Amino acid sequence: MAKPNLKVLSSSIRISVTSKLDGIRSWSLQALETCPGSIGSDGELVAACSGCYATTGNYRFSNVKAPRAHNKEDWQRDGWEDDMVAALENDEHFRWLDSGDLYALALARKVYNVMKRTPWVKHWLPTRMWKFRKFHDVLTAMQALPNVVVRFSSDSVLGEYDSRHGSVIVPDADSVPEGATLCRAYEHGGKCNGCRACYDKDVAVIAYPAHGKTMSKVIRIALAA
Ligand code: SF4
Repeated sequence: MAKPNLKVLSSSIRISVTSKLDGIRSWSLQALETCPGSIGSDGELVAACSGCYATTGNYRFSNVKAPRAHNKEDWQRDGWEDDMVAALENDEHFRWLDSGDLYALALARKVYNVMKRTPWVKHWLPTRMWKFRKFHDVLTAMQALPNVVVRFSSDSVLGEYDSRHGSVIVPDADSVPEGATLCRAYEHGGKCNGCRACYDKDVAVIAYPAHGKTMSKVIRIALAA
């Protein structure tokens, strides 16, 4: 894939790398405060967000929070799109929002432009912003790009999903619903280990087995309801 002549115009782009993703890089925001889709109609966090990994563990450390807070301001400046395109010059895959969500329509439009201008990158974007009508056009436009997979996240932690969704949490690897593809990172110490299913348009729905104490508690509550 031919690339434009790229030059990083600013050093303010903050990219993170999570060990799970085989070194694939990510641009992220702070969880919950940028996740309007995490709140259900009852005003409470939806089940999937109640046990969110991005609110616990390493994600509570200041050195992890700081770049996410920085990114929340940084995307709003002129030149951010150009800098993101330049920053992705050598990426084959890219994960948007390892934590946080596309909370602003202007951000979503900028991310769309970055995706469109980086056809050599396979982009994966999980989101709950599909719940908001005003985001439909931009999310549809992203999904139409050949190099982009937008996965609408189900709120369920029990494997419940419908035709809108591209991912769902399941209690364990033995409870994958029909039509979903199991994420097998748990078989490889929590790492993708070469799997790229999340970036693959031919994989309709990914089922992620729950992990962590908080999520186990959320699942117990959901099963008892
Ligand atoms: S489905 Fe594959 S690419 Fe997606 S998180 Fe799991 S191991 Fe990684």
